[in-house]
Amino acid sequence: VIRCRAAVAWAAGKPLSVEEVEVAPPKAGEVRIKIVATGICRTDDHVLEGCFPNVDFPVIPGHEGAGIVESLGEGVTSVKPGDKVIPLCLPQCGKCSFCLNPESNYCVKCHVSEPQNLLPDKTSRFTCKGKPIHHFLWVSTFAEYTVIPEYALAKIDAAAPLDKVCLLGCGFPTGYGAAINTAKVKPGSTCAVFGVGGVGLSVVMGCKAAGAARIIAVDINKDKFAKAKELGATDCISPRDFKKPIQEVLTEMTGHGVDYSFEVIGHADTMTAALASCNMNTGVCVIVGVPASGSVISIDPMLLLWGRTWKGTLLGGWKMRDSIPKLVSSYLEKKINSDLLITHTLPIAKVNEGFQLLRAGK
Ligand code: NAD
Ligand code: ZN
Ligand code: ZN
Repeated sequence: VIRCRAAVAWAAGKPLSVEEVEVAPPKAGEVRIKIVATGICRTDDHVLEGCFPNVDFPVIPGHEGAGIVESLGEGVTSVKPGDKVIPLCLPQCGKCSFCLNPESNYCVKCHVSEPQNLLPDKTSRFTCKGKPIHHFLWVSTFAEYTVIPEYALAKIDAAAPLDKVCLLGCGFPTGYGAAINTAKVKPGSTCAVFGVGGVGLSVVMGCKAAGAARIIAVDINKDKFAKAKELGATDCISPRDFKKPIQEVLTEMTGHGVDYSFEVIGHADTMTAALASCNMNTGVCVIVGVPASGSVISIDPMLLLWGRTWKGTLLGGWKMRDSIPKLVSSYLEKKINSDLLITHTLPIAKVNEGFQLLRAGK
């Protein structure tokens, strides 16, 4: 058993509490990882707010990390102690019908199929003050050591800087893949990205890499616009500067609406606005933002009847175990620059400050 620090969420609506926790050794098919760095994704904030009914408290959140293998459970063969890894919040067992389907990146043997936030055998490896603590998405990267199923790990290049490539665990591949894999943005096209936080900025990068001619960033926080422009946005607009709905503004700006729109906020109203912003016939709208559970959208079906496509993306459509090591190689070859998404670096003791910065749009 390892004793280390972890940021524990004891109850919804409460700040995280940095505690000493015990981390049990990995069981068969599991790996214990020393987490070196982790990003903060808005989805972790949704957990703290209590937005997910299937996430039980107390829980150790965090799902965008990078670390080093510490020890192996029985039967683990694909990694060894000392290997650098990125924990995958979407695993890839390689055997289920979805894993065998080249079009899919969902894995049936994942925490979504059997909603409970413990490890696959329905037990926890974490205890704190004598109480078992729940895992989150099987990865719980807000702990200095965590235990993860082998098939939810991607082994990455030993040269990768873990404090930088941790972003390749969620935010960057989600946004970049939403453009490249899910929307399949074509060269010369026009895109609109609703919400340019960490994930939305990664969508902007994906649209640019795919050769989009015009990328319109839409955000109510104008402080986000300088970075959006640096990464490839050609226009930046705030819905608050217009009296008419933003979908009408975008339609006027582009003639018939954009070719691709992305909702990267997580609100039902901006999802509807993003749908109406893409052109009526060949437009594609991708939902990236995670809505509050129980959200309902009502739309005029005519919006779809004319041919529009409305779809969502899970982690940008990547088969994670296969793709994340390749994205790390692209990072090392300087083909992608996710470092531009890093705004602050804090020690674990200041994790709540990190969330305050996220909520303040910083
Ligand atoms: P973030 O908070 O950093 O960014 C959200 C941005 O939206 C902010 O810049 C904010 O100013 C802007 N915004 C808020 N309300 C707006 C409005 N009404 N109109 C225009 N802009 C508005 O969050 P993030 O970390 O970039 O995550 C974005 C979303 O993506 C979250 O909902 C997160 O849960 C989700 N997400 C989904 C997946 C997936 O697999 N689909 C993966 C990771 C994150
Ligand atoms: Zn995330
Ligand atoms: Zn699978």
